[in-house]
Amino acid sequence: MKTTINILGSTGSIGSTSLKIIDKKKNLFKINTLTANSNYKKIYYQIKKFKPKNFVVMNKIVFDKLIKQKTGNTKIYYTYKNIKFKKKNDITIVAIPGISGLEPTIKFLKFSKKILLANKESIICGWNIIKKIAKKYKTKIIPLDSEHFSIRDLTENYKDKDIDKIYITASGGPFLNLKKNKFKLIKIKEALKHPKWNMGKKISIDSATLMNKILELMEAQKLFLFNKDKYRIIIHPQSLIHAIVMFKNGTTKFLYHETSMMIPIANAIFDSKININEFIKYKKKDKNEFSKLVFQDIDENKFPAIKLIPLLNKYTSTPIIINAANEILVDQFLAKKISFNSIIDILFSVLKDKDYKKYAIKTANSLKTIYIIDKWTRETTLKIIQKN
Ligand code: NDP
Ligand code: MG
Repeated sequence: MKTTINILGSTGSIGSTSLKIIDKKKNLFKINTLTANSNYKKIYYQIKKFKPKNFVVMNKIVFDKLIKQKTGNTKIYYTYKNIKFKKKNDITIVAIPGISGLEPTIKFLKFSKKILLANKESIICGWNIIKKIAKKYKTKIIPLDSEHFSIRDLTENYKDKDIDKIYITASGGPFLNLKKNKFKLIKIKEALKHPKWNMGKKISIDSATLMNKILELMEAQKLFLFNKDKYRIIIHPQSLIHAIVMFKNGTTKFLYHETSMMIPIANAIFDSKININEFIKYKKKDKNEFSKLVFQDIDENKFPAIKLIPLLNKYTSTPIIINAANEILVDQFLAKKISFNSIIDILFSVLKDKDYKKYAIKTANSLKTIYIIDKWTRETTLKIIQKN
């Protein structure tokens, strides 16, 4: 029997990479549902090429345009809420960015045996709910973020008492070697140009400010049961080592793989039982490569996002507030409304707002509460931007 699969956010960077993997082994898969937002051309192409059973298009204009086209046996939906499944799908890949991925994740958790979760923002905001539903419906969750995929792999058979420290590596983004006084002139195009990874806009900006690592730290603190103070972030410009775990037994393990999301995605789909050469041209390792690996500390002056670390667990819902403020600030930077430096400056201002604590102490056990906290943060962030 074929493996049934859904991809939420199929037209994006992670979604397209996932489809490339599936295409190499197309006889093994049946694509049930793909979802996307506004990329009409790519949506149409995917319908023709992959012939999914369902395609959910979130953008109304694009949806209206698409239902006028011939789409074969593919059913087009405006909202995933109307899709019904008779039985569980084998795999769902969640690759929608931002908190918009949370509700679809919750819906598909109930109808999937295994969820491959790239959407870090929904882990940060909705982990209490995700965890509960996954347990109830016996759904396995595998994080796709390369650092978390690595940490999971390295720590699978260990407990908190066995672990001394866990390092999350950061490439340092496009501005690792830029002088501090040049940061105020950073243009959108420069911030989107990541030296190592080819990714969506939101995560590319997060990588340039290093907010991506703050989000990943919160993501790890939610996903794994280890003491929250054991995590460290370290710059590793080559992006070949994705996580390092130091054990109390005196050994240290790290996970090394080429800078391609194909590797965590393909390994997660096939439970690591693959020959990667079937999917990508794997570079032969240079025998001296390990001696050339470089690690360095983060310059907090250039990347003030790092100063958020001691504040992340101040209140139970601080992560939701940091995530929402960052989502708005990235949008506003991409809309040319604020400068690159303002992204982190204004984020700190939100955490100093007089009502911050009132929302940060709320326990996020329901979607309703998450959205209340998220909405307050978005409005407050926009107000601060207008005042600036
Ligand atoms: P992209 O921006 O490349 O793709 C986003 C996808 O989601 C597109 O298919 C887009 O549709 C769809 N989408 C956007 N907004 C909505 C919405 N409101 N509702 C439904 N669908 C929507 O993102 P990435 O693939 O780069 O990232 C996806 C997630 O994975 C993020 O959370 C990111 O942090 C995480 N991640 C990404 C990595 C990477 O290498 N790219 C690495 C690790 C984690 P359309 O294109 O049609 O508008
Ligand atoms: Mg990552």
